[in-house]
Amino acid sequence: MSESTPTRIAIIGGGFSGVMTAVNLARLAKRPLHLLIINHQRPTGRGVAYGTRRMEHLLNVAARNMSAFPDQPDHFLQWLRSRSEYDDMPERELREKFIPRMIYGDYLRSILHNHLQANRADTRVQTEFVEGEAVDVEVDEKGALVYLRNGAQLEVNRVVLATGNEAPAEMAGAETLHEHAGWIGNPWLPWHEKLPTGGGTIILLGTGLTTIDAVITLRAMGWQGEVHAVSRHGWLPKSHFRGIEYADFPPVGIDLAALGLKELAALMQAHCARLREVEANPAIIVDKLRPYTQRIWANFSVEERLTFAQNYAARWNVLRHRIAPEIHAQVASAQLTGQLTIHAARIERVEAAGARVRVHRDHGAPLEGDLVINATGPQTRFSATRSLLLQNLLRRGIIASDAMDMGVSVDEDHIALLPDGSRSQHLLALGPLLRGTLWETIAVPELRGQARRVAETLLQQTVRHEPEPVMMEFMI
Ligand SMILES: Cc1cc2nc3c(=O)[nH]c(=O)nc-3n(C[C@H](O)[C@H](O)[C@H](O)COP(=O)(O)OP(=O)(O)OC[C@H]3O[C@@H](n4cnc5c(N)ncnc54)[C@H](O)[C@@H]3O)c2cc1C
Repeated sequence: MSESTPTRIAIIGGGFSGVMTAVNLARLAKRPLHLLIINHQRPTGRGVAYGTRRMEHLLNVAARNMSAFPDQPDHFLQWLRSRSEYDDMPERELREKFIPRMIYGDYLRSILHNHLQANRADTRVQTEFVEGEAVDVEVDEKGALVYLRNGAQLEVNRVVLATGNEAPAEMAGAETLHEHAGWIGNPWLPWHEKLPTGGGTIILLGTGLTTIDAVITLRAMGWQGEVHAVSRHGWLPKSHFRGIEYADFPPVGIDLAALGLKELAALMQAHCARLREVEANPAIIVDKLRPYTQRIWANFSVEERLTFAQNYAARWNVLRHRIAPEIHAQVASAQLTGQLTIHAARIERVEAAGARVRVHRDHGAPLEGDLVINATGPQTRFSATRSLLLQNLLRRGIIASDAMDMGVSVDEDHIALLPDGSRSQHLLALGPLLRGTLWETIAVPELRGQARRVAETLLQQTVRHEPEPVMMEFMI
């Protein structure tokens, strides 16, 4: 290929990860590139999280830690100043604010506009926005062919997989409910128009962040009925809090990543107990562990990773994925007034009960709702993926599941690994797809670094990176 022939790169997925990969390519490229961002279901740039149209859905990370660029930590704060509601807010207050996710989507759209659309006259990097679902990729020594569901075919040199979070796994029995008016299988598509009018009962399957979104929306809409939420442990996300200085963790001279799961868990439990004794929140330990999590995960054996996922992940998630204090207060109030009831039980199956949907659990009588929403969190068993694209790539053997079967197996520089462990000539991946390899690969503080590294790999400017240190999050 001559120096002036643009390298064609298809980026599948137009959420934060895909768009920021394209933006970093546009910022760093010294030679011609033709980028094709393929996205479906929602506007490019917003993705699942920031595509919400509801102002009551807040970010769960404070504004100061939400810059889209790893090398410009205050970028989001500065952008917020361009909006009238934040232009004269004191800096200290703005930094700690939990901004509506819809506004964060506007931020991403403005970055996309500035870097990928406004410079149309710049022939160095051209961007094409392709609306549609990629369903397959074929590779040969010359490049790759991306197939779309509408029959279109795109010839490219490299392919980046940035397909993000998958909808929750199918619930037992839900296969008979696809046409049922009382069943919502994907909680991230609008469900508000299906709300029973004049009260009734809503059942939320899961008690995580998506359930919190739903409860907050029902309150914002002034909906008066009963809400039940069911999950194995019945644990709701905790609130962000103002932490205390706790210099004793990690203990000086101990390499946390070298400890192994058993010793690490014992060390954490001992420090959590000490914090409880002084009436401090033990979640401080989880925050202080974050700069080390990816290295710890990388050093765990597969057996340790599996044990962690089985025995500790639920508690970890509750402490780690916290919510804005004002959101937490609303959920607590919904519980106090009796509108929201939490049930700790394993959900066994769902079935139609006339116009309602019945939820069977492993103990307690079945619950019946006028609307039942599957909010159990993204599907994580990769070999059971419902994405036709990923099913086809696995079948063709041009990607492989990681050892945990949680996502795509990749090398340190994000190049996809083939089933025999060799490096793909064509495919790279980032974002929630890397769960099994990195564990912490979900939120913006991790993804902005990944988007930059993928761009560097594609431009062959790769330098060896330690994981980006996550800024300490007292009061995030
Ligand atoms: C409800 C919710 C709230 C969150 N809140 C926060 C928060 O406050 N702070 C934070 O840091 N993180 C938050 N997150 C984490 C969030 O996942 C990341 O911040 C980030 O948005 C993930 O971006 P992504 O591009 O990797 O994935 P996604 O946002 O899932 O985007 C992937 C995109 O790819 C498209 N796509 C998938 N497959 C195909 C295909 N085959 N062809 C074409 N297009 C395809 C999808 O339709 C989607 O538009 C939240 C997540 C959720 C689900």
